[in-house]
Amino acid sequence: MNGFSAYFGRQRPAATDPQLAPPAAPFVPPSPPSPLGPLGVVATPPPAQVPVAEPEVAEVEAGDRLGPTGRPLPHLPIPPPLDKHGPAKVIALCNQKGGVGKTTTTISLGAALAELGRRVLLVDFDPQGSLSVGLGFNPHEIGLSVYNLLLERDVVLEDVICKTNIAGMDLAPSNIDLSAAEVQLVQEVAREQALSRVLAPAIADYDVVLIDCQPSLGLLTINALTAADGVIVPLECEYFALRGVALLKDTIEKVGERLNPRLEILGLLGTMFDGRTLHSREVLKTLVDGWGDDVFHTVIRRTVKFSDSTVAGEPITTYAPASPGAQAYRQLALEVLARCHAA
Ligand code: ADP
Ligand code: MG
Repeated sequence: MNGFSAYFGRQRPAATDPQLAPPAAPFVPPSPPSPLGPLGVVATPPPAQVPVAEPEVAEVEAGDRLGPTGRPLPHLPIPPPLDKHGPAKVIALCNQKGGVGKTTTTISLGAALAELGRRVLLVDFDPQGSLSVGLGFNPHEIGLSVYNLLLERDVVLEDVICKTNIAGMDLAPSNIDLSAAEVQLVQEVAREQALSRVLAPAIADYDVVLIDCQPSLGLLTINALTAADGVIVPLECEYFALRGVALLKDTIEKVGERLNPRLEILGLLGTMFDGRTLHSREVLKTLVDGWGDDVFHTVIRRTVKFSDSTVAGEPITTYAPASPGAQAYRQLALEVLARCHAA
């Protein structure tokens, strides 16, 4: 695919490897302290609360030889700092299914790449505007958006870009206006290349451009795939998540053949993984059996911290910097950079 195996020089173990399924330590939620004493009267509060580790803290395979995908974790070097920026690698976050972690991955991966000194541009390419909201922007207060950029010839990228609270990470925001673009673009010349054309000035200034796609395979998504060098496919670790992947692969291949020969699948990312359930582990195993090294070694576990950070309007890397979710996206950033350089 992209020289990744050559880069790490590792083979994935046979599918029958018994170590593929890590032993599940059942998580027993701590029972809340009862306000009533043994005699049914209000008791004095217990002396000291013993802190209870969140399940995912216990689940981290730090030091384990095999990662959650059942393959040996590769050594992921911290890339050296950059003395100049660009040319940018353009990556589309794409899956026609909604609620699989596209937007969360765009924000968190972008912030993790910015921590590594990369200049990152996030492009909100979903009319729902969740990426913009997730970074604390009010969709009604956005001035010029990606919609204006696509359809008004006197609007340039610079007019649309907003700074985020994360140093080195900018946003091209969107709101519901973008839904009209899908219809209006149909009449344009080179309608599939519209995004690629307007993003061209960003290539020299940024190191990574992440495009958060809408949950469909319509014209906007085709535009994102035409503008991209690579695609990351976030997939919820649920059985039904696997069903749409073949269709998505077909679309990516068609765009690759007809519109954008640079395009490649950078990786499939398991999200909302729950290592305590056999179901989640089986889905991940099926994914690795079918897609091999296309599946990222990094797996994002299910945790409410992601929803909390969305409400707070900031990435998990700053909202809960030491949390396993933040660490996982930092690892993903290293893996993405390794795959980009090995391509
Ligand atoms: P998409 O962009 O594919 O529609 P989102 O990134 O918006 O998906 O995620 C859908 C919902 O799931 C959001 O509420 C988000 O906070 C939540 N979420 C995303 N990733 C995780 C995760 N790893 N664990 C738990 N909740 C998550
Ligand atoms: Mg989204």
